[in-house]
Amino acid sequence: SNTKVWEKVDHYITERLIPQDPILDQVLSANQEAGLPAYDVTPAQGKFLNLLVCLHGSKRILEIGTLGGYSTIWLARALPADGKLVTLELDPLHAQVAKANLSLASVDGCIELRVGDALEQLAQMKEEGVEPFDFIFIDADKPNNPHYLKWALHFSHPGTVIIGDNVIREGEVINEDTQDPRVKGVREFYDLLADEARITATAIQTVGSKGYDGFVIGLVKG
Ligand code: SAM
Repeated sequence: SNTKVWEKVDHYITERLIPQDPILDQVLSANQEAGLPAYDVTPAQGKFLNLLVCLHGSKRILEIGTLGGYSTIWLARALPADGKLVTLELDPLHAQVAKANLSLASVDGCIELRVGDALEQLAQMKEEGVEPFDFIFIDADKPNNPHYLKWALHFSHPGTVIIGDNVIREGEVINEDTQDPRVKGVREFYDLLADEARITATAIQTVGSKGYDGFVIGLVKG
């Protein structure tokens, strides 16, 4: 089936282009041992995020949805020495595993991991007067995507890149009668993007070892 080919090709890409990395292997094992769901980005996608940060020259990154910190590590590794990454996670167990993983990968020095509901954390960050971010990766609970997009705009400046993950959902995104709150959240996310004059965006469909999905990439305009 197609899925088999996608998996094999993903494996081929990873084998050719992504150097063996015992630290990342250890991170994924630690996640598995702690019983975390395997919702992390794939190696090829992690490297893609890493390349985007490099291409953009981002110095300040916001990530919504840490899980075990796998994508966090890929993002953080692209930061310059004076870079900073804030990552938000609701689940205390996920956060605890992520904390250990980030320190194992020696990226913990530039990372602030905030534990709690992301919407509450974002409101608190506003109170604290946290500065805007150059790059924002939205990858938490999909029903809240529309809210996360509004917050992403709040913490943006002209030139900020906003990425939203899992926006195709095996093609369910075009089902207007869906009752799935995640698909609904993603559809509202598109509606907001369509109406939002401050962002120019597109979506890219992807296949691979984690099935058929995709991401939105947006640029905040001047
Ligand atoms: N970015 C991670 C990676 O690629 O390695 C994967 C993140 S996983 C898809 C989504 C995460 O968002 C889960 O760890 C989940 O606990 C967290 N999450 C769910 N609801 C949340 C909320 N309201 N606030 C913050 N995090 C939340």
